Amino acid sequence: MTTPTDRPATSADWLRRDAAAVWHPFTQHATWTDDTPTVVDRAEGPWLIDVDGRRYLDGVSSLWTTTLGHGHPDVNAAITAQLARLDHSTFLGTTHTPGIELSEALIALAPRGRGPDLTKVFYAGDGSSAVEAALKIAYQYSTQTGHPRPTFVRLDQAYHGDTLGAVAVGGHELFHRAYRPLLLDTIGVASPGSRDHAPRERAALAAAELTAAMRDHGDQVCAIIVEPMIQGAAGMLDYDADYLRLARDLADAHGALLIFDEVATGFGRTGSMWAADHAGIVPDLLTCGKGITGGYLPLSAVLAAEHVYDAFLTRPGDTAPRTFFHGHTYTANPLCCAAALANLRVMAEQDVIGQAARLGDRLGKLLEPLAALDGVTEIRRLGTMTGVEVTPRGERTGFRVCQAARDRGVWLRPLGDTIVIMPPLTLGDDETDLLVNALAEALDEVLA
Ligand code: PMP
Repeated sequence: MTTPTDRPATSADWLRRDAAAVWHPFTQHATWTDDTPTVVDRAEGPWLIDVDGRRYLDGVSSLWTTTLGHGHPDVNAAITAQLARLDHSTFLGTTHTPGIELSEALIALAPRGRGPDLTKVFYAGDGSSAVEAALKIAYQYSTQTGHPRPTFVRLDQAYHGDTLGAVAVGGHELFHRAYRPLLLDTIGVASPGSRDHAPRERAALAAAELTAAMRDHGDQVCAIIVEPMIQGAAGMLDYDADYLRLARDLADAHGALLIFDEVATGFGRTGSMWAADHAGIVPDLLTCGKGITGGYLPLSAVLAAEHVYDAFLTRPGDTAPRTFFHGHTYTANPLCCAAALANLRVMAEQDVIGQAARLGDRLGKLLEPLAALDGVTEIRRLGTMTGVEVTPRGERTGFRVCQAARDRGVWLRPLGDTIVIMPPLTLGDDETDLLVNALAEALDEVLA
């Protein structure tokens, strides 16, 4: 252990210690330090500052989370105030005021449209565990309302998190193939966002596969799970709202639940509160996380329809309890709930959704010329969820572009050869210009 006074001053020192002690997520450690990772020390608004004092515009909101930027005074103050009052209290056998208030706020903000009202909130700690809870709720719902339906319909290329249930409903080859022998039974159908086919063909193929899967196996399917409107971690694969209308119809026709995973898309990321709003479709279960606290503390939730919740209420004559036997030590941690409440208050007071919609439009216009560059295959975007796909594939082109952007003071991350841009929703015009200019220069340098 070192004391603050003998703390090594440079990134190089910290990286040596990091390499000796740390195992990072999604990281190949044989080459980790070759790329001189950034050692982040502080953050201010949209800026990350490393231990050597270099500043980087955070173009991906940390991990798609810090929707208000870093260090927002209202969120910081809310966390501090909550800390002075109640740090932790279980949601098991007790309840607490920030947890109740946040549930009310989330229900008031829930999407409206075709489908049931979402009227109950179940908390978890991160996106994966919210998905995990939703899957278990869906299965148990089937056992308590009709007959056990042991499978799920999921999209190819989907990503819903890294716990085993979430992996089972994923379809991301690179991330998921190693674990396939361990997984639940699922039915994979073509993604409506797949770029393997032209737009009209992919929509028709996806609709046909979903329809056939439900026709052939609907009786065994407890839920269809989709990331609505745009598959983020798959590489920002956007698709048409009609697919969600079809999924709603098919789920209803076959007695399955519809789950929307809004962990990435929720809380303004797509230019509306929920991606579901673009389709006017409401699922039976909606998972959310990431932006719920503005990225300040880990929290996630499952919003549930009343008919789902109702199926878990014990009835006279029941031979087994209908309880949802699931929960975590940190379920609805009061600090996290307080951060989320403050985040939602700022979002409402400062029309952050409106800001996000305008930022998305502006990003779209500024990025347009880049689509014509040799080596840029496609630029995909919904609101501020943006992917710039580059070639050649398989030569770490996306990563090299991000490194070149970092050299220009802009922090971006690739998903394979798709460069992700997901800035804070409140990013100013000058900073947006800086981000796009740095990306343009980086593309020029790497693709030349
Ligand atoms: N679902 C979606 C759609 C996601 O994008 C993610 C994370 N990127 C998750 C679930 C998992 O969330 P977490 O990393 O917080 O477990």
